[in-house]
Amino acid sequence: MLRQLRCGIRTYKVLAIESSCDDSCVSLIERSAGTKPVVLDHVKSTLNSVKAGGVIPTSAHLHHQKSIAGLVKQILQKHSIKGVNCPELVCVTRGPGMPGSLSIGVDTAKGLSVAWGCQFLGVHHMLGHLLIPRLESNGEEPQFPFLSLLASGGHTMLVLSRSLLDHEILVNTIDIAAGDALDKCAREIGIQGNMIGKELESFLNENPELSLKDIPWKMPQPLKNKPKRVDTLGFSFTPFISGVKLSLERYHNNEVTDELKPAMGFKIQEAIFDHIIDRVLVAYKVRPELNQINTFVCSGGVAANQRLRVKLQTALKSHGVENFHFPPPALCTDNAIMIGWAGIELYENGITSGLDVTPLRKWSVEGLEKSDF
Ligand code: AMP
Ligand code: ZN
Repeated sequence: MLRQLRCGIRTYKVLAIESSCDDSCVSLIERSAGTKPVVLDHVKSTLNSVKAGGVIPTSAHLHHQKSIAGLVKQILQKHSIKGVNCPELVCVTRGPGMPGSLSIGVDTAKGLSVAWGCQFLGVHHMLGHLLIPRLESNGEEPQFPFLSLLASGGHTMLVLSRSLLDHEILVNTIDIAAGDALDKCAREIGIQGNMIGKELESFLNENPELSLKDIPWKMPQPLKNKPKRVDTLGFSFTPFISGVKLSLERYHNNEVTDELKPAMGFKIQEAIFDHIIDRVLVAYKVRPELNQINTFVCSGGVAANQRLRVKLQTALKSHGVENFHFPPPALCTDNAIMIGWAGIELYENGITSGLDVTPLRKWSVEGLEKSDF
């Protein structure tokens, strides 16, 4: 249960900004003591990377420069925010992320807090992902300790959260993120879009029978088939990209037919999800005490995938998990609501930032102290 509001005000507003990668996001949240926060608004503008085939940091920087001020203005005008009803707290993602992208959000947030004479807080992006499932219940559920699988375009990790600031990364990726691999592999078979993993899921749902067609692909099982690394607590996703290229060349002369495309997509998705689950199960094997933790959160863009959710639930049945939390897809991908909510949890535990904080490209979610903010 969150402490009663420290600020002595029973209701206050929070403006939050997220700009760590390619999404410019702004949210406005109203906080009242004792009830769950009301999300008054959330706006988002995503860099179009379809042609570029991936997020180019300079393009993302330019995108935030063009869009964030306008998004803030849109929200402030719509909700008539001025004078006495201006927010008491401005939160922004401070890191980890692309420094150029982060700096636009951080500087905009500092400017707003100076103009409003209000509190400023630089939030850890991963805390946003980890804490967002608690918003719905006003911080009651999930209770600590809980396990989270965060799988997105920028990160893939299994985290044990013991309290607001005590998080242990049990498994992390040793190369790229699951979403990045999904996107790159699916692009090889001609799936297009800004969120290719999501497009792939829709494509497979539209072709359920063809996706089960048998094809001779042998997808890699990273770390699993290397005797010395079989128990490695790490995810590895780059082998899938070469695996797809090799199979396309070996079995299909680099040709993707409409008939086989669903089966290829299914193989890609299944192999990546099987690897995620395989490593989560290794964590349970290496750290048997995890079987005592009955709450499991699945968050991040990739975690919005229904197939992954079902596979995880099945795999963890015998590991003591009683409560699964799957935040709604809009809260799974990068957004400013999670930054606002994490900001509220931190603020109500006495944490704020000075105006001298700078964006952090790297910032571990492990070993956080109040003074780190
Ligand atoms: P995020 O970094 O959290 O914004 O998530 C973006 C990543 O999640 C991208 O790699 C997307 O392709 C991937 N993604 C989003 N939705 C889905 C989905 N339903 N299934 C699989 N991957 C997804
Ligand atoms: Zn993220």
